[in-house]
Amino acid sequence: MTQDILTLSATEALGKLANGEVSSVELTRATLARMEARKHINAYITPTAEHALAQAEASDKRRKEGRAGLLEGLPLGIKDLFCTNGILTTAASKILHNFVPHYESTVTERLWQAGAVMTGKLNLDEFAMGTSTENSAYGNTLNPWDESRIPGGSSGGSSAAVADYQCFGATGTDTGGSIRQPASMCGVVGIKPTYGRMSRWGIVAFASSLDQAGMFARTVEDAALLLEASAGHDPKDSTSADLPVPAWSKNLQRDIKGLKIGLPKEYFIDGMDTRVRDSVMQAVKRFEAEGAEIVEISLPTTKYALAAYYIVNPAEASSNLARYDGMRYGLRVEGDNLLDTYIKSRSEGFGEEPKRRIMVGNYVLSSGYYDAYYSKAMKIRTLLAREFAAAFEKVDVIMTPTAPNPAFKIGEKADDPISLYLEDAYTVTVNMAGLPGISVPAAPVEDRGSLLPVGLQIIGKKWDEQTILQVAFAWQTMGGVERLGWRG
Ligand code: GLN
Repeated sequence: MTQDILTLSATEALGKLANGEVSSVELTRATLARMEARKHINAYITPTAEHALAQAEASDKRRKEGRAGLLEGLPLGIKDLFCTNGILTTAASKILHNFVPHYESTVTERLWQAGAVMTGKLNLDEFAMGTSTENSAYGNTLNPWDESRIPGGSSGGSSAAVADYQCFGATGTDTGGSIRQPASMCGVVGIKPTYGRMSRWGIVAFASSLDQAGMFARTVEDAALLLEASAGHDPKDSTSADLPVPAWSKNLQRDIKGLKIGLPKEYFIDGMDTRVRDSVMQAVKRFEAEGAEIVEISLPTTKYALAAYYIVNPAEASSNLARYDGMRYGLRVEGDNLLDTYIKSRSEGFGEEPKRRIMVGNYVLSSGYYDAYYSKAMKIRTLLAREFAAAFEKVDVIMTPTAPNPAFKIGEKADDPISLYLEDAYTVTVNMAGLPGISVPAAPVEDRGSLLPVGLQIIGKKWDEQTILQVAFAWQTMGGVERLGWRG
């Protein structure tokens, strides 16, 4: 019984909540029991059982009174980068080990308004810096497909929890791939909408011109629904767009005959993992067989994208991290004087990766180097956006692998930051151009004795989340998005 409930999609679970087959308290209890039984995955930094049960009881009451929201009674996990009122929010950093916000992020506020229940705060790379969740100050998260492997990152707690039935969906943030890449590593659906679609208010800032919230789910319709409940204009975020939120989840059917799919030749290069390429090409061929038209396109600036991203990102990160000084909140290590207190608090509070980004960021922004690095990177960013815009004159969507390889072993790349940065080659371009992107599971591949998921990335035009969701849904309908097997 419990297994049956937990393996439902969010949409199915909401159906059962609506017809009274199950209550939110029952659904929440089953989820909490699963979290407890699967603690070793380390998906959650802070489970919030008591809070969840109180929310579930309130939800059941609302439903009885006929006041059900879009997500009424649905247990969801929240990446520990979203501020939650009265609940510990660490950003997986020691420097925020005791930070309890007294306000709620707009995205999570909207989820609670829609009736959702919070199961807890999910693990991530410290300040969302990373691709493996090995940079968390609270221990790494295991990939449920093979526990010796990373779940992707930075939203590795979110992808693992959704794949492992420890919630029905989860929030994530994506600055350079942190939703799409972990979704691909754990065989779930991950969507990053257009920059400006979701409010960034109350989300711990990383690289503000790239940061965007999004959703993890086990099906495309679930992802659409969760996005719908949380997107939209917010006067508290000046970069949030004042556009209506379409009813994405109600408009997923689409005939893909005649759909034009762009394949950028710069993303399919010699030396790439042939298993990943074959898995993605198999999906592309399937679309072709269903009547879609495949168009080879070129995005020549792609080769500079990763280098440019790793200038823009640390530049913004170093500025955003300047606020952690041990004075008003977070870790404070007393020194002999004010400067010494700053130095001690920051030295002890930040892990290796934030320190690396602070140093690189300050370097590329410093006078004398600014023109050589930062302003060049910004030019590349403009070129990338223009090339995508030109490509979208010819095609409806662009398909690429989400990540260059399937999930690697824990520790395998931990001492080599550059090899970790290379993991982001296919995803950072989308953030640099501010476009929407979704990762859906393609055929899994074999690696050293394990069967591992591969992600198909579908990139769309600005503000056109609808089309990428429709194409992803078509893929799911073709049997492309396999339902995950139950892991006992
Ligand atoms: N891996 C990328 C980085 O470390 C992206 C992280 C993210 O999207 N939050 O910058």
